[in-house]
Amino acid sequence: MPLIQMKTPLVEMDGDEMTRILWQQIKDELILPFVDLKTEYYDLGLLEREKTKDGITVDAANAIKKHGVGVKCATITPNAQRVSEYNLTEMWKSPNGTIRAILDGTVFRAPILIDSVKPVVKTWKKPITIARHAYGDVYRATEYRVPEKGRAELVFTGENGASFRKTIYDFECPGVLQGMYNKDSSIRSFAHSCFQYALSTKQDLWFSTKDTISKLYDHTFKDIFQEIFDADYKEKFDALGITYFYTLIDDAVARVIRSDGGYIWACKNYDGDVMSDMVSTAFGSLAMMTSVLVSPDGNYEFEAAHGTVTRHYYKYLQGEETSTNPMATIFAWSGALKKRGELDNLPALSAFGEALEQASIETLDAGIMTKDLVGLCEGITPKAVSSIAFIREIRGRLSAKLA
Ligand code: NAP
Ligand code: MG
Repeated sequence: MPLIQMKTPLVEMDGDEMTRILWQQIKDELILPFVDLKTEYYDLGLLEREKTKDGITVDAANAIKKHGVGVKCATITPNAQRVSEYNLTEMWKSPNGTIRAILDGTVFRAPILIDSVKPVVKTWKKPITIARHAYGDVYRATEYRVPEKGRAELVFTGENGASFRKTIYDFECPGVLQGMYNKDSSIRSFAHSCFQYALSTKQDLWFSTKDTISKLYDHTFKDIFQEIFDADYKEKFDALGITYFYTLIDDAVARVIRSDGGYIWACKNYDGDVMSDMVSTAFGSLAMMTSVLVSPDGNYEFEAAHGTVTRHYYKYLQGEETSTNPMATIFAWSGALKKRGELDNLPALSAFGEALEQASIETLDAGIMTKDLVGLCEGITPKAVSSIAFIREIRGRLSAKLA
């Protein structure tokens, strides 16, 4: 069979631990036998980040800006324990955070659905995609532990003379204080990314905040979204027959639970953090959750939503055969190849990505799966296999499809 050709390279970002092992297996078994793979390779494994003083992460992010599409393996975000484990000279920042800061994007997370794993919420039939604003709010807040009686004030000193001062609270006893912010520019990027992703996936877009209580902060998000929608997207949404609607987060939560899915739910940073864990757990498993970062200028970075699965890696190092679920990492590759095919007008490449996803789903539908899914299955008698056996089962089905 002739190999499927590519034009522009994918930015390939290798990672750590168990997912690094899966990465190689997926390439060897599911990509390289079928595609004349072109990638620009960046090793974001912790050792290489240490060696390059994390310069490699910045280089990879800039390469995504240049080429437009990247695929990333899960990576270790160092903590104190990792600093001693890997003999690090510094506690390097989260690669995802660094890449996000450079691309300035929004993270979209969507579950991979299979018939035998039923969502906990009975009405859900189609995936619910969470779009999380990945900048500011409580993640960049300044906090203070108030030690004694006293006055807390909110103060702003403008460069051109604007000023603001208001009492937050007159403390009569110790307490806590928090100051957080966001920027119009980041909220605008968030809005554009959401509207563009809705157009590219042809799904309705919901957006929710707590604007009834937060009359200035959250209301600004609501206003900016509406203004951008009316100016740039309304006609395009109408043409596709999809809708944008804003609602209070309390109402959104109730509607989500009663819905049958099939839309994008845009959330502020904290809401998106919490709600994506709720939605992914209710759909079945973190190992079945895909994640893509979309920048406002149209660059894409595909990855799995889970981490490096450290516990399995230590077993692997002891020579045990592991049953780690490679689905989310496979879908990161298929998503990236499909997007590359679309941008470079290579239908065969997009069709390959689609076939890879179908072969993976069909393998699960046949009851062949990794251990994490076996306990969640209903209506079939599943067979638990190792990661590599599962990947080879997919390969067999993929070969048959492409023949
Ligand atoms: P994790 O790697 O997601 O794993 C947590 C647990 O979830 C695993 O021990 C496993 O449960 C289960 N799990 C996750 N993915 C699975 C898969 N594909 N197949 C089967 N089971 C799976 O999270 P973590 O242990 O908290 O973090 C490990 C490392 O990953 C950390 O160094 C962290 O910094 C990093 N991390 C990276 C990213 C990223 O790059 N995007 C995201 C999160 C965390 P059992 O052990 O019960 O089988
Ligand atoms: Mg979270």
